[in-house]
Amino acid sequence: MNILRLDQLIAQGKLAGQRVFIRADLNVPQDDAGRITEDTRIRASLPAIRMALAAGAAVMVTSHLGRPTEGQFKAADSLAPVALRLGELLGHPYENGVPLVSGWVDGVNVQPGQVVMLENCRLNQGEKKNDEALARKMAALCDIYVNDAFGTAHRAEGTTYGIAQFAPIACAGPLLSAEIDAISQALSAPKRPLVAIVAGSKVSSKLTILNALSAKVDGLIVGGGIANTFMLAAGLKVGKSLAEPDLLDAARAVIAAMAGRGAAVPIPVDVVCAKRFAADAEATVKAASDVDDDDLILDIGPQTSALLAEQIKSAGTIVWNGPVGVFEFEAFSHGTEAIARAIAASPAFSIAGGGDTLAAIAKYGIERDVGYISTGGGAFLEVLEGKTLPAFEILARRAQG
Ligand code: ADP
Ligand code: MG
Repeated sequence: MNILRLDQLIAQGKLAGQRVFIRADLNVPQDDAGRITEDTRIRASLPAIRMALAAGAAVMVTSHLGRPTEGQFKAADSLAPVALRLGELLGHPYENGVPLVSGWVDGVNVQPGQVVMLENCRLNQGEKKNDEALARKMAALCDIYVNDAFGTAHRAEGTTYGIAQFAPIACAGPLLSAEIDAISQALSAPKRPLVAIVAGSKVSSKLTILNALSAKVDGLIVGGGIANTFMLAAGLKVGKSLAEPDLLDAARAVIAAMAGRGAAVPIPVDVVCAKRFAADAEATVKAASDVDDDDLILDIGPQTSALLAEQIKSAGTIVWNGPVGVFEFEAFSHGTEAIARAIAASPAFSIAGGGDTLAAIAKYGIERDVGYISTGGGAFLEVLEGKTLPAFEILARRAQG
């Protein structure tokens, strides 16, 4: 995708003395006392900020945090803890926190070589609906707008879209650039065979993904609630398992689309069942044809895992979203672990995303063996659905001049 990138502008010496507005994704989890429990997103935003500072820009950085009501400030919605943590990470002279500016829409005082944080952008009236007057005001704050927030790239809001329309220059930060590059490598010009693994619990939303992928991929592996729906479509019983019987036609359409291209959607040959949904429930491995009416399928079986692992190891490119079983319960985690280890061992370029998928990657410690781990949950899923994300679309349009 042809977009302008922050490092290109820096290489051209275009940042010195300029006012740079960075839209980051600093939406970190907090405990009840407001303490940050996990700061990955703040760390991930550091490269853009450091690059802009080192290039001599006057830097403003903002993000959303939670879901505040526009126009109604509450202390719990403040980026104050984030500004403090960002300062600690940046170090001198910010060890006591990056200055936090509220009520910033009409003007921000910041000097070249300095960074300030602009209070939660979702507090501004018109942010969510991408109000044009707000977007124009925010654009007037800067010479260069940088979008480095992949997590919100699927939303056309004031700081993700409108400001990019009106800022003198609009570009992608390093984090967004990396996402765009990894996604293009996996989906636009993949090394074949391209194998997608789509699993997890959100059956209906992921069927849309399967539809879109079935036109692109050479192999489509299903797991979790999706696999159960495909088992039903193949005439197998799934007992009380998570499945969506009203989506059988959609599942059959995916199978037909893949068959039309000489590929198959492998239906599990064995499964791990329980009588109740609990960590201490007894796990029974069964042939896929032996599932009882009171069974819950909570994982793929060992034979299925081994078959899928073979397919994964011989892939050229792998796209992964969704654990293939209830991996949070030890007895039902082996399928997901086998898939994760097969991806790690495969020479293929792999890209993975999704909240629970990232948790599984962390659980099995395969971070370094995955080609690219996407930072966006919803945004990543929308890419897989074949949508052009609004944030990408506007940056591409602006790059055309
Ligand atoms: P992601 O967040 O990676 O997009 P999802 O949210 O769609 O993934 O799905 C993850 C959840 O799916 C996990 O909590 C997992 O326990 C659940 N899950 C996986 N397989 C099954 C199954 N067979 N039955 C019920 N839940 C499942
Ligand atoms: Mg999830």
